[in-house]
Amino acid sequence: MSAAPRKLLKGSTGDWEVVVGLEVHAQVRSKAKLFSGASAEYGAGPNENVSMVDAAMPGMLPVINKFCVEQAVRTGLGLNAKINLWSRFDRKNYFYPDLPQGYQISQYKDPIVGEGEIEVELDDGETITVGIERLHLEQDAGKSIHDLSPKESYVDLNRSGVALMEIVSKPDMRSAEEGAAYFSKLRTIVRYLGTCDGNMEEGSMRADVNVSVRRPGEPFGTRTETKNVNSIRYVKQVIEYEARRQIEVLESGGTIDQETRLFNVQTGETRTMRSKEDAHDYRYFPDPDLLPLELDPAWVEEIRKSLPELPDAKKRRFMEQYGLSLYDATVLAMDKDKAAYFEEAAKGRNGKLAANWVTVELFGALNKAGKDILESPVSPARLNALVGLIEDKTISGKIAKDVFALMFEGEETGDPAEIVEKRGLKQVTDTGAIEKIVDDIIAANPAQVEQVKAKPKTFGWFVGQVMKASGGKANPAAVNEILKKKLEIE
Ligand code: ADP
Ligand code: MG
Repeated sequence: MSAAPRKLLKGSTGDWEVVVGLEVHAQVRSKAKLFSGASAEYGAGPNENVSMVDAAMPGMLPVINKFCVEQAVRTGLGLNAKINLWSRFDRKNYFYPDLPQGYQISQYKDPIVGEGEIEVELDDGETITVGIERLHLEQDAGKSIHDLSPKESYVDLNRSGVALMEIVSKPDMRSAEEGAAYFSKLRTIVRYLGTCDGNMEEGSMRADVNVSVRRPGEPFGTRTETKNVNSIRYVKQVIEYEARRQIEVLESGGTIDQETRLFNVQTGETRTMRSKEDAHDYRYFPDPDLLPLELDPAWVEEIRKSLPELPDAKKRRFMEQYGLSLYDATVLAMDKDKAAYFEEAAKGRNGKLAANWVTVELFGALNKAGKDILESPVSPARLNALVGLIEDKTISGKIAKDVFALMFEGEETGDPAEIVEKRGLKQVTDTGAIEKIVDDIIAANPAQVEQVKAKPKTFGWFVGQVMKASGGKANPAAVNEILKKKLEIE
């Protein structure tokens, strides 16, 4: 990454640069857990999805789930990363009531996926590249529940042993917006790949947010790590809060402790949880119950070939094939369902026009109605038909908006051609009919006719009158032309 500072924050003693790196835990979309056949499904009753392995009964042995390994490889390929054909599982030792083994099986020195990089689009249209340090597979822990009883704590092991991919970024982000955009792009990629459902409310994706600040050009400062942040908005808030807090500490002569912090969603603040442990505190060692993971290069190739078109490739294709702007292409390509809708709506039509209808009218209406693209009352085929009616000049863009509103409200059949027919909304291109309206308006408004000769700017008034008299149905180009001719202005 370039060392040039991109975005600076103002402190009371000068500028600061924020440095951000994310460790994202993404739950593998798998039926079974990483080392046992128990169900990994979310939402079961307490301890319903627990096998002897997940409960760490004596003598139980882990057996690797090939499907989960495949998902990690898929994700690595989607991150343009190096797939390590030889990797290994390690034990990360620590005590937790919801960790019955007393250790977590993870990958430490030899992860399944090495370095990669992804493109991240920012709101201002800029694109940055963010490096991926690694992706490794590990088991999730169970869950301790402290708020069900005043006297007891409960342990639910359903989550114990569920497969996680930990995706570690390089410290390449330089603002809260960049951190949030990276997290969002990562979710887009795993959803495209189908390797994680990206459902943050259910905890399928959560981020540990590492933040430090430095003076531009200086080496990296000491970072803090805020744990388990589970929405894009919260990632942004954590970075904003931590950067401000650290700048204040440093400017008043203090130092930053390398520590683990917690985010309070109610107050938007972070607070100390514990001082940061180092890797050696965990006494990592290779898990003797598991063989190293050796991948057949032909298998990896097969997975590579089965990858779907990924968002960045789709974005580029949308720009080339449909002539879309980078902005429109990004908005449409970053969501698989939106992209599919657009392509169906654009089939055989002017791509830019179709994109405009999807991103402005449709997304606007969906937003207002609080609906997802998959719940759109207007099907892509119907929107395609509507765009067709504009293209062949059956209706003007303005009338099309009215027709669209009727379609969206579920009016009649929702077939735009039928709505146009039934309501008599066809554009009048018959010049004779338009000429008649123009003549009437010129005859009825001699004062305005005088005025437009002296002040050609008032010409628009005539266009408005003719359109109004035609009920909005007159072809605007024809109206302009006929008016100009009759009023004798160039
Ligand atoms: P650990 O596993 O102990 O948390 P890592 O070296 O793997 O430590 O780094 C974890 C994350 O912290 C990575 O995403 C990395 O990009 C980020 N990071 C490292 N140094 C900094 C820093 N000075 N400021 C912000 N983020 C950092
Ligand atoms: Mg960490």
